[in-house]
Amino acid sequence: MKNNVVKKVVIAGGGTAGWMAAAALSKLLGKNLQISLIESDEIPTVGVGEATIPTLHIFHKLLGINEQEFMAATNATFKLGIAFENWRDIKKDYIHSFGFLGHDCWAAGFQHFWLKGKQRNIVSDIGDYIPEHLACREGRFAVLANQDKNYAYHLDAGLYAKFLRKIAERHNCQRIEGKIVNVNLNHDSGFIDSITLASGQVVEGDLFIDCTGFRGLLIEQALHTGYEDWSHVLPCDSAIAVQTKTTGKPVPYTRSIARESGWQWRIPLQNRTGNGLVFCSQYMSDEEAKKLLLANIEGELLNEPRVIKYKTGTRRKHWNKNCVAIGLSSGFIEPLESTGIHLFQKAIIRLMQLFPANGIYQNDIDEFNNQTKSEIDNIKDFIILHYHLTERKDSPFWRHCRSMPIPATLQHRMDMFRQSGAVFKKSEELFGETSWIQVMMGQGIMPKQYHPIVDLMGDDELKQFLDNIKNGVIRKVQNWPDHNDFIKHHCKSAAQ
Ligand code: FAD
Repeated sequence: MKNNVVKKVVIAGGGTAGWMAAAALSKLLGKNLQISLIESDEIPTVGVGEATIPTLHIFHKLLGINEQEFMAATNATFKLGIAFENWRDIKKDYIHSFGFLGHDCWAAGFQHFWLKGKQRNIVSDIGDYIPEHLACREGRFAVLANQDKNYAYHLDAGLYAKFLRKIAERHNCQRIEGKIVNVNLNHDSGFIDSITLASGQVVEGDLFIDCTGFRGLLIEQALHTGYEDWSHVLPCDSAIAVQTKTTGKPVPYTRSIARESGWQWRIPLQNRTGNGLVFCSQYMSDEEAKKLLLANIEGELLNEPRVIKYKTGTRRKHWNKNCVAIGLSSGFIEPLESTGIHLFQKAIIRLMQLFPANGIYQNDIDEFNNQTKSEIDNIKDFIILHYHLTERKDSPFWRHCRSMPIPATLQHRMDMFRQSGAVFKKSEELFGETSWIQVMMGQGIMPKQYHPIVDLMGDDELKQFLDNIKNGVIRKVQNWPDHNDFIKHHCKSAAQ
């Protein structure tokens, strides 16, 4: 262990992860630390990562970020969920919206009431009982006082990094331009002593944060931490991304359209649309993917399509010696549920909570790594669910996904839901009951039973209970304006 007081923090890499870490650490701990960030204009950022989830509010609150300012600066739009098209089967679509489903009672979740209602033929689509779901379909949005923050954003990743850079520099984070050519390890401890740049400059530090993207220059190339490969359960290993000019009004949700050997994303910003195809190279070549993507986009191309290669999985340790990996350097699950930026922010907050101000101790490292591991395992299961639980048999890729072995933890959740309609969220898990229910039902599981407590209600009472909730959802959403109109008044960017 290196029990020196940590004074100098060096962040390597200035993509989304690097500037998120720099902004948070300099604003919240900067008074006691000397923080620098190294990035190279010669090495571009990965340039994707534009859909977020509602937890980003927590990060923005910590940093005191004003929503309107941030949205105008990043051409952002609002996001209430993800529309999954062709995932269960071709032309079988569903929405995974943020928000909460109906009203629970102490013994059983709302889905049990809905399931009995379904048997009695007195319910409509499960999404009709979630305001955010209905608002997606109707293209409505509002930010209201005392409203739950069940929404997220679509943002321009490059502009977001610039926005965060301003915050970091305002709080004395020093940006160092230069290409990292060497990471210098201490002969005795194996800890990182310093980083050498192409200019010959040597940057010393006590704690290093690796935000160098897939390269993992510090955590992997220097410290050889190792990687847990998940391609046996998450087989997509490539993406192709391109931006187009906006052709219509931005919808308040991300579109995820399953294709023959992967899926396509559409992320609407105020001024443009981010498009991409995630695919599995075992079943589709880069050229085929490019052709497929270009045949399925709308609007004028704003840049050349770019291929990105990756391996799904996670670093064996996210904190190793005096190096913490944050961002793609720490691993990559899949962009399907937009969890990347969330994981970066969680790692930053976790690091601040366990900040080794008085020296680096193994207990802190182990706690950090254990918390991270259980968090990503839960997210991993949720993502695998979308691929595995499909009725598609139309291509070798989907046949593979249907038949691949899945983690026992996921099998347990699916079996339990199928048998009894029960869903549970452990306190540290990201995805809650409403998420699991929407995706499991959307992908084709309809539970065999409902909880017996529902039978305490007579049929008329049950109908009234369900109708009241549904009508409440309609009344709430009817008062929300059109999403695009709301943006124009609330946070219009100069680019629109
Ligand atoms: P990068 O953007 O790659 O940044 C790396 C930085 O390191 C750069 O500044 C670079 O200059 C620097 N660097 C590298 N080598 C050197 C060197 N030798 N010297 C100096 N500097 C160096 N996440 C979401 O939350 N939502 C999404 O919708 C989403 N979609 C994604 C889609 C795809 C296809 C992929 C691959 C990822 C997606 N992610 C998403 C994950 C993630 O949010 C983004 O990829 C993220 O923007 C990448 O962040 P990063 O900062 O880790 O890496």
